[in-house]
Amino acid sequence: MQHNAVAAGARSWPRVEKVVPDTRTYPRGVAYVDGAFTTISEAKISVLDWGFLHSDATYDTAHVWNGRFFRLDLHLDRFFGGLEKLRMSIPYSREQVAEIMHTCVGLSGLRAAYVEVICTRGSSPTFSRDPRQSVNRFMAFAVPFGSVANQEQLRRGLHVAVSDIVRIPPKSVDPSIKNYHWLDLVRGLYDAYEQGAETALIRDTDGNIAEGPGFNVFVVKGGRLTTPAFGVLPGITRQSVFEICGLLGYEYAAEPVPLDNLLGADEVFITSTAGGVMPVTIVNGQPVGNGNVGVVTQEIMKVYWERHEHPDWSVAVAYPEA
Ligand SMILES: *Cc1c(COP(=O)(O)O)cnc(C)c1O
Repeated sequence: MQHNAVAAGARSWPRVEKVVPDTRTYPRGVAYVDGAFTTISEAKISVLDWGFLHSDATYDTAHVWNGRFFRLDLHLDRFFGGLEKLRMSIPYSREQVAEIMHTCVGLSGLRAAYVEVICTRGSSPTFSRDPRQSVNRFMAFAVPFGSVANQEQLRRGLHVAVSDIVRIPPKSVDPSIKNYHWLDLVRGLYDAYEQGAETALIRDTDGNIAEGPGFNVFVVKGGRLTTPAFGVLPGITRQSVFEICGLLGYEYAAEPVPLDNLLGADEVFITSTAGGVMPVTIVNGQPVGNGNVGVVTQEIMKVYWERHEHPDWSVAVAYPEA
């Protein structure tokens, strides 16, 4: 199912309440909360929401680049899959959620955006401890596109440190449900900062490499690519890299990645909707390969961004006429 953008002007645009955004505290952007479109600074949830109190929520993040959504169908699949596994329901169909996401971006005017949809367990009139009595809440927002790596880091490669913190095991929290259980990842980040690195990778329950705060990791060795299979969120950027490997003829596998494979790699890169394919050139203070951004990484980055114009992988956003 591809969501077809409606020609600009041919549709009626909802009004955004509170048109003066508080840009001292919040980025530019448009949100959809409680059935209405609003500025980011006005988009709020209750302190009684289980999403806030218990991290009882799922979400997904898609992005818009050059005015086109990238792989929106895969993001919707993952979001609706998470809702089902968490026994949550929202009063919107898949098409309506896509429409809300398109409208947030259209109203924001952003040509490069980070677009999040969220469902929280919500709350109940009696503040019941039974999650079945909560009314689930859906919200969405579009803000300017953000990246794990800044321009300089994309050019020279990120400096990463491996922490001994263990990612919450899949037997506790199903990682295929995109979630806000980040206390392990944030501990990993502080570990990494103490080691002078810019971001972190943490471990799985077997001590192998798992993932970092909001990204997956790939190791390139002898022209073959590997990425952890277990205890990680199956990223859509990771999936896109698999497909790009297929297009370019690189062998790849999802399999255990021990620390030694990372340290002995020719090239390392991380993947996330927030930034795409991002090179890593230092791990635990030591250069990866010859210390430069690798050629395989560069080739995959190039095809990844080229595919943003491809109609199989992207769809145009409709914007209101200026
Ligand atoms: C979102 C996320 C990723 C990256 O997934 P993408 O779909 O590529 O953005 C990786 N790990 C975690 C924990 C995440 O939340």
